[in-house]
Amino acid sequence: MARRRAAIPRGVGQSHEIFIARGENAEVWDVEGRRYIDFAGGIAVLNTGHCRPEIVEAVKKQLDLFTHTCFQVLAYEPYVELAERINALAPGSFDKKTLFLSTGAEAVENAIKIARAHTKRSAVIAFTSGYHGRTLLTLGLTGKVAPYKLGFGPFPNEIFHAQFPNALHGVSVDDAIASIELIFKNDVEASRVAAIIVEPVQGEGGFNVAPFDFLQRLRALCDQHGILLIADEIQTGAGRTGTWFAIEQSGVAPDMITMAKSMGGGYPISGVVGRAEVMDAPAAGGLGGTYAGSPVACAAALAVLEVFEKDQLLARSRNLGNHLMRSLQAMAAKDARICEVRGLGAMVAIELCKAGDAHQPDADLAKALAAEATKRGLILLTCGTYGNVVRILVPLTASDAIVNEGLDIIQASLTALC
Ligand code: PMP
Repeated sequence: MARRRAAIPRGVGQSHEIFIARGENAEVWDVEGRRYIDFAGGIAVLNTGHCRPEIVEAVKKQLDLFTHTCFQVLAYEPYVELAERINALAPGSFDKKTLFLSTGAEAVENAIKIARAHTKRSAVIAFTSGYHGRTLLTLGLTGKVAPYKLGFGPFPNEIFHAQFPNALHGVSVDDAIASIELIFKNDVEASRVAAIIVEPVQGEGGFNVAPFDFLQRLRALCDQHGILLIADEIQTGAGRTGTWFAIEQSGVAPDMITMAKSMGGGYPISGVVGRAEVMDAPAAGGLGGTYAGSPVACAAALAVLEVFEKDQLLARSRNLGNHLMRSLQAMAAKDARICEVRGLGAMVAIELCKAGDAHQPDADLAKALAAEATKRGLILLTCGTYGNVVRILVPLTASDAIVNEGLDIIQASLTALC
């Protein structure tokens, strides 16, 4: 830790003072040989667990063939096959095309570029508490100041924030839609808005689930004004919520979907899938990147899809989600500090408050819970506008025994913090 602090800027935060030596499925071992259960999954990256053998094998095979050409220079099969697979998985009965990149933020950047190129409009609407990345455009879209935006402005203009619905904190779907209408009145005419970007379940913002009727009304509003709807599924995608893309459950087909994290099973790959005519708007040479859609990461992503089929991980995600919800609700029933248990599929979180009052967020307790759980051998992550939400992103491949061991540690940690 001393060497880390001396060599690396403090801006690269660290939620746990642990150096990992090895990982296997839902467990990791640190350099001192301590074992931890991993409920963080590298921030939603490891739906298929650490070092899943089929994924490791696929990567090794690719390493022996070639590791890099730059897809815009020399094409390769895994990129094309992966694009075909993703096109078939994305909702909507229209032709689709997919572009691959390396990080989530890059996927969002590209979705906005494509939306602007297609609509010939500039403005973008995002949401309060939303998170879309750490580059300057995606920080502009992100709806949370500390710590992400502190000291980094100015951000690109023509970005407006509408309210994300949040029943617990008094924002209804009607309020959220009205806040978009207000943007059209106060800030920018609808005919200049290129896109609305929304997370079907806000990740960093606190696992706030967008009500399905909200997503449906967003779709209708976009259709009314010729605005493109972009679903940011970087955290919700790759089966975390029980369907490959979370938005499928609302019946809404967005014009574009951004994806990253668990699609690569631990290798850096992201993508944008969308309506073919939208995706074809930028001129040849307008999209891409040196490492975008690396053959090694494409091979890993194809193996992830195989593992999903083999282990029936979408059904597992739904069952696991039900189990997590029930177990955490049982804890909440006896503990007024948990003011809400919420989620979609296996994307589940608890919100912590003081005196049983949801309007008094308890970030200190969330921090203390994560620290206490670490001492007891469980890696947990916090999130939320007020930092008072504890989220679970355990690999979908984790055994019931490991999941229950982790849940028991959460209960024991809460008890110890009474
Ligand atoms: N969008 C969402 C919804 C995310 O959760 C994240 C990462 N937490 C990003 C974008 C940015 O992804 P990356 O860190 O890979 O750039």
